Amino acid sequence: MSKGEGEDSDTENSSHHEGRIRSFKHERGNWATYVYFPYLPEEEFLELLDEMLALAAAHGVPLSRAQDFHLSMSQTVVLRHHWIQPFIQSLRTGLSDCRRETLQRKDVIEIFLCRLVCSAEKLRVYSNAEKTRTFLGMEVSSGHSQLLQIMKTVDGTMEEFRLDTFYKNPSFHVSLAWCAGDFTDCMRTCLQKLQGLVDCHEDGRFLLRVDCQELRCKSGNKIFSFPLVC
Ligand code: AMP
Repeated sequence: MSKGEGEDSDTENSSHHEGRIRSFKHERGNWATYVYFPYLPEEEFLELLDEMLALAAAHGVPLSRAQDFHLSMSQTVVLRHHWIQPFIQSLRTGLSDCRRETLQRKDVIEIFLCRLVCSAEKLRVYSNAEKTRTFLGMEVSSGHSQLLQIMKTVDGTMEEFRLDTFYKNPSFHVSLAWCAGDFTDCMRTCLQKLQGLVDCHEDGRFLLRVDCQELRCKSGNKIFSFPLVC
């Protein structure tokens, strides 16, 4: 699923959004915006995902592949068009301050010196706050403390613009697939079988790796890049 498409049009047509129900009122000039690390899927991952979708369908869960794969570092917020540039500037400043502080402190894990690669292998069910969408995600199992540091920096910008910060108990993950409606209970009943596909994949357990060298922000159809590695 792509979260930012279709902005800057004043019509609300659910067929343009794969039947999804928006969680915020759509108005001309409002741009859905979120910060994330992209995950570029390998062929092996896509094959595994197709197996998972077939198994979920057999249990009555009509999952569709996510259109793009990413690790969210913010909630999806709404920006007015004239806020986009100052918002992006604030993110850049925050990230470079974070980098400077990190380089000065020898005791912290150095996100900006080492290349951060997060791995994920445990499936988990997520839903949006309104419970109008259910997601099958893979939760990040390594790199959590570095992600928290980046999340806090992004939250600083959100606070500056009086927007929602990330979850109090963040569960960093990559959503693999989603469906409209609340299928959380139904999905949990087949989660173990789905996890079995991940654990017993061809040469052993499948490990999803997200290379976190470039943070991105998508606002409407615009994508801004924030390289993190020196
Ligand atoms: P995403 O793939 O990042 O868009 O996340 C899919 C859904 O997970 C979003 O609708 C989030 O609201 C939801 N979610 C629910 N609980 C959490 C949590 N603790 N941390 C991160 N995302 C969450």
